[in-house]
Amino acid sequence: MNTVSFADLKLAPEILKALTESGYTTPTPIQAQAIPVVLEGHDLMAGAQTGTGKTAAFALPLLQKLLPHASSSTSPARHPVRALILVPTRELAVQVEESVKAYAKHTHLRSLVVYGGVDIKTQTPHLKTGVEILVATPGRLLDHIEQKTVLLNQVQVLVLDEADRMLDMGFMPALKRILALLPRQRQSLMFSATFSNEIKRLSEDFMNYPTLIEVARSNASAENITQKVYLVDQTDKHQLLAKLLRGDDAKQVIVFTKTKLTASRLAKQLQREGVSADAIHGDKTQLERMQALDAFKQGKVAVLIATDVAARGLDIDHLPMVINYEIPHAAEDYVHRIGRTGRAGAAGTAISLVSPEEEKYLVEIEKLIKTEIKKEKANLPAHPARPQREPRGEHAEHSRGYHTPVPKKPAHDPWFDKPYVPSISAPAAEPAKKAHEPVTNKPKPQIPALFMKRQG
Ligand code: AMP
Repeated sequence: MNTVSFADLKLAPEILKALTESGYTTPTPIQAQAIPVVLEGHDLMAGAQTGTGKTAAFALPLLQKLLPHASSSTSPARHPVRALILVPTRELAVQVEESVKAYAKHTHLRSLVVYGGVDIKTQTPHLKTGVEILVATPGRLLDHIEQKTVLLNQVQVLVLDEADRMLDMGFMPALKRILALLPRQRQSLMFSATFSNEIKRLSEDFMNYPTLIEVARSNASAENITQKVYLVDQTDKHQLLAKLLRGDDAKQVIVFTKTKLTASRLAKQLQREGVSADAIHGDKTQLERMQALDAFKQGKVAVLIATDVAARGLDIDHLPMVINYEIPHAAEDYVHRIGRTGRAGAAGTAISLVSPEEEKYLVEIEKLIKTEIKKEKANLPAHPARPQREPRGEHAEHSRGYHTPVPKKPAHDPWFDKPYVPSISAPAAEPAKKAHEPVTNKPKPQIPALFMKRQG
């Protein structure tokens, strides 16, 4: 039990006030450990992923340290960039800056977020007015540096958030260029869900005897997240997903896929079946991603299909469920994915649909999280529209997968005889109802279908 209060952490009254207004009562473990270290001026290397409260763990002490520089002056010269927070994705950038703004609302400290995918000209005037705290994705920051719209020579605190993902996304060269422009005298904080050798090398390069804090990785597979695996053939996954999404506890769900293509197709397929679903992935424009995310947060869209990169850092309050339609090949990604739910101590469910081909990845995941996840063979209802398989019989299940035998009946819609991942020629223009009915034989779920497109 963590009995430290925010006041015990010696945070300033204006910050404490903002925390109370945000509804925070007690610091999370990473906050309780990191805040004193940062306030004392040490470099910090923290092992914590999204959902642990890591943003406040660096943002609160950072604001406190900058408070003496807070100024109500309108002169840009009085508002140089003093804290630089680098993050891997636009969504995370927006979220981090929203948090910083909320915590700083009773101070005169200014913050701004800059990221790629939007016209750089829209960001420049804001930068020019002067901001103390700049949240940025590395590529866009370099653009601003090249255009001389930002100066980093007064940075006192540098934060690398989700450093492991920044390296995965190939930001190392950009990071090195940015680091070279910062004053040597500064405090550096690094947050990463995992500590690979590359991360350790990066920390050696740019940190000064950092204090190491790790809030147990097992936190990711925390007690408050119920994890479950359904063993299911790849071709049956869609039917199982549709069944799970009809469950009472599936009011707001993120479904993870490995590829953008699967995300798009799955979203379309679910829309055809009357489920209010949308996809976010790297091929969508920033505006589309933001709109989908907003609709999801507001409950207008019940199911968000996402790839790992797009979902990285997503913070959705009280998200009750994530479903891994395909489990990730990198075990760490599993930790990140399930960390979308069960945030800040809330309860969450993480369900993974695992085909026989994916079992080897499941073994790696269980090794990483040091937990054996409860497994159940998918028990799908016999369905006239499901594809028939050969051979049937006792041994077929073991030799071919987890398929539960169904009575032989001719499929009435040849579309359903195709394997799950449909070809481009799948009948996208099929009226929604027709595609829906053979799958469920049930009335349409009562969820809004705002994003349904009828192309027929
Ligand atoms: P993060 O890990 O920083 O993405 O934070 C996860 C979620 O927890 C965010 O929605 C925060 O607003 C929330 N949060 C962070 N710290 C606290 C706290 N001490 N009490 C309650 N909620 C918190």
